[in-house]
Parts: sequence; C-alpha cells; structure tokens
Amino acid sequence: MGDHPASSLPPRWCRWPQRELDLRLAELGLVINAPEPAVICRPCGYALQPNGECVTRHLADKHSIQKGLRHGLTSYIHSLFN
Ligand SMILES: [Zn+2]
Repeated sequence: MGDHPASSLPPRWCRWPQRELDLRLAELGLVINAPEPAVICRPCGYALQPNGECVTRHLADKHSIQKGLRHGLTSYIHSLFN
C-alpha cells in the first residue's frame, strides 16, 4: 500500500547507536578500512567494495548470514563512505 515499500521497514542498522553498530560489525567480522574506502572481511581477508551490495552479498554467499542481520547494512555502509 505504501509508496515506498522498502523504506516503510525501518532499517535496523540506521536505528542502532554507534556502540551497537561497532559490536555488530565486529560480530560479522567486518572492519571498516580507511582512508581507502573498503570493508575488510576478517575471516577471509577480503577487501570488499563499500558500494553496491558487495558486502551484504558476500555475507550471504560466503558466511550464510541471515537476511535479518544484513537488513540495512548496505545503506549503513554507504553512509560511512559518503
Ligand atoms: Zn568473508
């Protein structure tokens, strides 16, 4: 019914406080790289592109991370590098 079905669901990653975000990233094995924009996946040592859906797709394909845990992650990562 809504005009924007995707945005009617509040992305969890946007609602969490910074401390929670850091914790969640650590749990997923992700490290935000700087100054070069990349997200490092610690378990694999991969440098993932922070644009597009590279990170969330990697988590799904390689680490079987549930959709619920990844929800909003892409936009959160985009916000870090923009
Ligand atoms: Zn990985």
